[in-house]
Amino acid sequence: MVDLQTQYQHIKQEIDRGIEEVISSAAFIKGPKVAEFQTHLETYTGSKHVIGVGNGTDALQIALMALGLKPGDEVITPTFTFIATAEVVALLGLTPVVVDVDWDTMNISVEGIRKAITPKTKAIVPVHLFGQCADMEAIMAIAKAHNLFVVEDACQAIGAKYTFADGTTKQAGTIGHIGCTSFFPSKNLGCYGDGGALFTDDDALAESIKAIANHGCFVRYHHDFVGVNSRLDSIQAAILDAKLPHLDEYIANRQCAAAYYDQAFAGNPHILIPGHEAHSTHVYHQYTLRLIDVNREKVKEGLAEHGIPAMVYYPIPLHLQKAYQDPRYKAGDFPVAERLMNCVLSLPMHTELDNEQLEFITTNVLELMNR
Ligand SMILES: *Cc1c(COP(=O)(O)O)cnc(C)c1O
Repeated sequence: MVDLQTQYQHIKQEIDRGIEEVISSAAFIKGPKVAEFQTHLETYTGSKHVIGVGNGTDALQIALMALGLKPGDEVITPTFTFIATAEVVALLGLTPVVVDVDWDTMNISVEGIRKAITPKTKAIVPVHLFGQCADMEAIMAIAKAHNLFVVEDACQAIGAKYTFADGTTKQAGTIGHIGCTSFFPSKNLGCYGDGGALFTDDDALAESIKAIANHGCFVRYHHDFVGVNSRLDSIQAAILDAKLPHLDEYIANRQCAAAYYDQAFAGNPHILIPGHEAHSTHVYHQYTLRLIDVNREKVKEGLAEHGIPAMVYYPIPLHLQKAYQDPRYKAGDFPVAERLMNCVLSLPMHTELDNEQLEFITTNVLELMNR
């Protein structure tokens, strides 16, 4: 699905130099590399504050803690997503309220959000699924009208750009009150271990986030509230700092591969290519097909026989997960997500795909449609 070895070979010198610098300085925790990378990512994203943390899940949890949400407060999330989004809501004693997604973009349904709002709703956590922004202009307008916080789960969408009706463009993660991203190795900007970050333009929120991530203290050994220990370590920051200058080129490579796939599959009666959000670019964390009237498992097996990996992201939506059973929800409540779980198939998508590989993959996929 990804090819991190080849990518590393192309940037080996920069990466190795960065790691070596950290080791020889022995500044492993909160070293200068972390601050440098945060500053560079602020410049890249246009976010006033970037705060590195241990991983993307921590980023989401810390974001909800920084907003001061209380047990019983409702947080709206899409049902079709990676589990971390709702997990942190549940862990904090908040109530996840799930809504369906749009069939074409697979992103959270704005109509669904409108219908899910109650007097207890405090926040919306849209997920920019597979690499394109949810309909943020509409979501921010709903949030404003109902006085809600918006925490963007931009773990899959770093570098995606959203354009508002007035022509302003903002990056994924910098539109809501807080944005969260992950540097998990296979993410679009991945490190060589775990890492994550929060984005905010709000000075007070930035201070709270830093304190929460640091055991709940502004001043060392003076703990004002219960926090967590979550840090981006210096070696990972050095790796990310070496990779950040390549991010635009990496995104372009992914978009190029997606264009190849789009063209190869367009018009096939069994394949729907990814639909586009009208106002967002797509950075293709995943390239996800919807297969119509074919046996997905047979396709997956047929591809595997030729050494082509393919994955189902995601096989079970939130409201059907055992750990998230809730008397308010039952099978059939979110028909789009339930249809997607049975027909999505993600193909290899990374920065190193060449035309020969793409031709091999698309030829095999198309052949399996004719069986
Ligand atoms: C990867 C991911 C996360 C979690 O990131 P980790 O760094 O693995 O904790 C959260 N939400 C989404 C949508 C993700 O893809």
